Amino acid sequence: MFDLKDLYQEVIIDHSKRPRHFGKLAGQNREAEGYNPLCGDRLTVELIVEDGIVKDAAFEGAGCAISTASASLMTDMVRGKTEAEAQALFRQFQDLVTRNDPPTEDDLLELEKLAALAGVRAFPSRVKCATLAWHTLSAALDRRNAPVKTE
Ligand code: ZN
Repeated sequence: MFDLKDLYQEVIIDHSKRPRHFGKLAGQNREAEGYNPLCGDRLTVELIVEDGIVKDAAFEGAGCAISTASASLMTDMVRGKTEAEAQALFRQFQDLVTRNDPPTEDDLLELEKLAALAGVRAFPSRVKCATLAWHTLSAALDRRNAPVKTE
């Protein structure tokens, strides 16, 4: 039997063990730092934004499996998007993991692999792990220089 939960588990394990776009980004022109004191997750998001488009995205830092997987999936997904699209994706993802209603099938399809993180809804403390990279991305796009804190 095809088990969606196992698939999601696999996506998280895969992206936390082998994070994509991990490291410094040469020529980056946007950067922000994020810290989640509740769990100890700490990361830096670097972007290359040209003509309003996120040409490249990378992150580095140290954190739990959820925060690392989320940052890895995020850098994968925002590349090629406009700044507005990237911010919209942030809000959509945040809504997915913080609202009370369970996600619909359409939400999950639309969010692609990010849907793997929908399970953190049940664990409020893990929501901060899952959204840290996104808050940091949003700060980098807005050129907010103060480090982002989830508390
Ligand atoms: Zn964490």
